[in-house]
Amino acid sequence: MSIKSKLIISYIILIVFSISCLGFFIADKSRDAIFNEVTEKSQRISELILNMVSVRNDLLSEKIRTDLHCAEQKLDNLGSIKIDAVNSVKVEDHSLPSLYAGSTNLTVNNDFVDNIEESLEAIASIFLLMDQKLVRVTTNLTVNNTRPIGSYIDNKSPIYKTIIKDQHYYGNSLVLGEWFVAGYKPLKDVDGRIIGAIALGYKALNNHLEKTINDVKIGETGYVYVMNSSGDVFVHPHIKGDNLGNYDFFKRIAAQKNGIIEYELEGVKKLAAYRYFEPWDWHIVTTANYDDLEAPSTSLLSTIIIITLIILLLSIILAIFLTHTFVMPINKLKGYMEIAGKGDLTIQSDINTKDEIGVLSNSFNSMIKENKRLLEETIKYDSLKTEFFSNISHELKTPINIIFSTTQLFSLYTDKDIEASIDPLKFKKHVNTIKQNCYRLLRLVNNLIDITKIDSGFMLLDLKNHNIVEVIENITMSTTEYIKSKSRTIIFDTDIEEKIMALDAEKIERIILNLISNGVKFTRPGDKIEVNVYDKGDNIQISVKDTGIGIPGDKLDMIFERFKQVDPLLSRRHEGSGIGLSLVKSLVEMHKGTIHVNSKCNKGTEFVIELPVRLIDNDNSEEHKNNINHHANVEKIEVEFSDIYE
Ligand code: ADP
Repeated sequence: MSIKSKLIISYIILIVFSISCLGFFIADKSRDAIFNEVTEKSQRISELILNMVSVRNDLLSEKIRTDLHCAEQKLDNLGSIKIDAVNSVKVEDHSLPSLYAGSTNLTVNNDFVDNIEESLEAIASIFLLMDQKLVRVTTNLTVNNTRPIGSYIDNKSPIYKTIIKDQHYYGNSLVLGEWFVAGYKPLKDVDGRIIGAIALGYKALNNHLEKTINDVKIGETGYVYVMNSSGDVFVHPHIKGDNLGNYDFFKRIAAQKNGIIEYELEGVKKLAAYRYFEPWDWHIVTTANYDDLEAPSTSLLSTIIIITLIILLLSIILAIFLTHTFVMPINKLKGYMEIAGKGDLTIQSDINTKDEIGVLSNSFNSMIKENKRLLEETIKYDSLKTEFFSNISHELKTPINIIFSTTQLFSLYTDKDIEASIDPLKFKKHVNTIKQNCYRLLRLVNNLIDITKIDSGFMLLDLKNHNIVEVIENITMSTTEYIKSKSRTIIFDTDIEEKIMALDAEKIERIILNLISNGVKFTRPGDKIEVNVYDKGDNIQISVKDTGIGIPGDKLDMIFERFKQVDPLLSRRHEGSGIGLSLVKSLVEMHKGTIHVNSKCNKGTEFVIELPVRLIDNDNSEEHKNNINHHANVEKIEVEFSDIYE
């Protein structure tokens, strides 16, 4: 999978995860909040209705006292109360004695109670005391459109017991299944005997209260209903008249009276807050459906899902844009790397951003540059090696060929069939040729061994305190005769006679001989070679200068490089391996000195060496006399000058 895909997938997972967590957290919190809100609201509504009912009960209780008194007076106004047991009246299935108030027979005439209803808006009944019962003889109460005349209050009722004690009764009474706030007073005949009772009552539940309760709405489906302790529902927006007595939730409501309950009814989860009003035996229940409760959090959740989808879409666009911005330079760099991997080291990254990819791009460019440099160096070294082998083969072949030809000539001389007398001079010349070429081979081998020793760190200086002026003068002077034989002149000059310093005399001699040998090789007959020593205080300066062919300016830097020659192998006029100056430079540097060249074409060349003046302590003999071993110097010169053929 590519980095781009990985980045996009990570972004999306991160965003979906965070928004989902946030969404579910908010939905959960808001659901709880709504739930609490509805629970509280339900409780408050139940409480409110309870208060309302309680106030109504109190008001009616107060009102009933004055109204009952008023009704009693109205009855008194009709005349004295008496019973006519002889002329009984048949009402419905009952045969009742006639109860008179003045001349009005109350048992057949309902005018009095209807009049009470008109003036006091109260339910009024008049009872006759007979057979240990209070039998209703007139009433404005209607049950199923009929007046329940003949219905009675039995002697177990507290009302009955109060009335026969000639006392007033006030309280809530259940009349034919309906609660009334009622008052009862005894009725007496002219003799003061209790013959019945007059009752006034107000329905606990009137239309207004019922409508108020029915109008309460909680959310979409919440409502309030009222039932009694038997589970009879008498106020309900939908199921008035049903009985809930068998439901489990009813049993819990009836048992606890006040509280909150969660229950399921016909597959619908509900929450209910309920309060109990004991005087009327009312369970006031405020209920709400769970679906309704969850509706806001469901809608919130769907809003969050829509927002999530929008954010997701935007995030995907952003993620693609960002990853594209991030990954594009990486891909570009990858492309450059692949090109470089195929071997094209000319490629360079053009990414210049100021971020990590920019740093990577710079590193890539540096790496390519370094690889290119190494490659060029390797190619250069390779061509140097090729050049070296050509030079070496030439350097080896030339003296071997000469030696071989000379020995062939000697074979001819010693052939008995050839009657040639050997000229001693010629013979000497041939022997010298063999000798010179042996020296040349020896020099080449010596130089190769020394270079290898220097490279591997095995070349050590044999430092001793010497008079450097003497060392240089002696070796220079040893070449005079040879130089003269080559039609050049050599001059030695110095501005001091003695400078004792630590040096390896043999190595210094090789340096000077090498430079003089080059001086001879690259000059013409008649030219001059000068060797000068200058005292520079802490340094000694040695100059080897000639009036020869010079070195072109653009070649000056390379002559100290190993195997480098100014003239190409095939076209050159001078012999040599290209090792000499590189060896000289190494030997100078081993003495902690420096070497440089000044040259002008056809004017001449000067090599200038600077050596620091140092002394070594453990050298007891202050100065080593540079004993001139003439024979040894000649040998050295023979070797060092062996590639000069003129
Ligand atoms: P070689 O053995 O070929 O002489 P060197 O390392 O001694 O090798 O010299 C390297 C090259 O430097 C020579 O081939 C020559 O081209 C140039 N060179 C050295 N000394 C002189 C000089 N005195 N005058 C002109 N060219 C010189």
